[in-house]
Amino acid sequence: MGRQYAILGRLVAQLLANMNQEIPQEQWERLQREYQKGVQDSYPNPERRGCPGTEILEGLAVRSAKFEDIEEDQQWKHVIHCAPCYGEYLELREACRLGKEAKARRQVGDSKRIDPSSKLPWYRRRPPRPD
Ligand SMILES: [Zn+2]
Repeated sequence: MGRQYAILGRLVAQLLANMNQEIPQEQWERLQREYQKGVQDSYPNPERRGCPGTEILEGLAVRSAKFEDIEEDQQWKHVIHCAPCYGEYLELREACRLGKEAKARRQVGDSKRIDPSSKLPWYRRRPPRPD
C-alpha cells in the first residue's frame, strides 16, 4: 500500500469537504478518477469488510455537499480506503451536486436503477447554484 494514496486521499477529502472553493472541473474529475483507480487497486474489499452502509455514505455525501468538514470522520476514513464505499460515495455525492438534473433524468425513465438522490430530500429545498 503506497503512501502516495494516503496523501492523495487526504487531498481528495479536503477537496470534497471544501467544494465551495473554485476547482476547475476537469482537474477535479481527473483527480477523482485517479484516486478511485488507486482505491480499487489498493482496497478492492470485495467482501465489504467494515463497510458502514449506504445510510452512512449518504450522510457523508450530504455533509460534504453542505461543505461540512468530514476529513476527521472515522467513517470517511473508511470510505477513502474502500473501493466499493468510495464508488458509492462518489455516486451519492454526484447526485447531491446534480440535484435537479438527476431528478429530471429519473423522471424521464432513465433506467430501473434507483436514484440515490431520491433518499436525499434536503437538496430539493436548496435553490440551484448559480454558475
Ligand atoms: Zn467499505
